[in-house]
Amino acid sequence: MTATGHAMSRELDDAVHALIGHRLHTHTDHDGQTRSGYRESVYDEIRAELAARTGEGGTLRPRSLPPAWVEGLDWLTTIDTAVAQWWPDPGPNDGQPETVRRLNLLAAHTWAPEDHEAIAWCIDDLEHWAMAGKALLEPVRRWELVAACPACGQTTVHRPDLSGEIVRQSALQITAAGCGCQSCHTRWAPTHYHLLAAALGCEIPVGVVE
Ligand SMILES: [Zn+2]
Repeated sequence: MTATGHAMSRELDDAVHALIGHRLHTHTDHDGQTRSGYRESVYDEIRAELAARTGEGGTLRPRSLPPAWVEGLDWLTTIDTAVAQWWPDPGPNDGQPETVRRLNLLAAHTWAPEDHEAIAWCIDDLEHWAMAGKALLEPVRRWELVAACPACGQTTVHRPDLSGEIVRQSALQITAAGCGCQSCHTRWAPTHYHLLAAALGCEIPVGVVE
């Protein structure tokens, strides 16, 4: 294999691992001790989450799923369908989901130079799916402020959600990073919430600003 071939198979390995590999996880306990361990892969966690929400019967009832899990279902279907096209034979059944077996076989294969362009597309897709999957598992905590933006006067915006459907949201959204207007993109850092609250004519709830 050429040098590019080696780099590409390592990149493919990493991209496959990001989706179906165990994840190293560290957290700090209440006693201040840092502990680490492994978490299930992004793929397995979303699959388990969907199975838990759709019941043991295995009948998917998307309408009864909260919106984020309709996105989870789309995510899983997209991946299962694409990977089955990339590598149709799932190999012997070792108890792992077919997509996991297919991806492991795909990553273990030695690809000819003429396949490199196609593999680069696969790597792009895998990296994108791993990122989107993590976002589904750990959504950014945000709050909507139902008030007109002091900068542009807008109260609501219409924007596409993860599935591309247009939804109505409050223009002012608060995350841990600060408050931002989705209409005019003015931002207020948490240190400026007092000014923002004064402009909105409201009081800051106890505990929002230290
Ligand atoms: Zn604004």
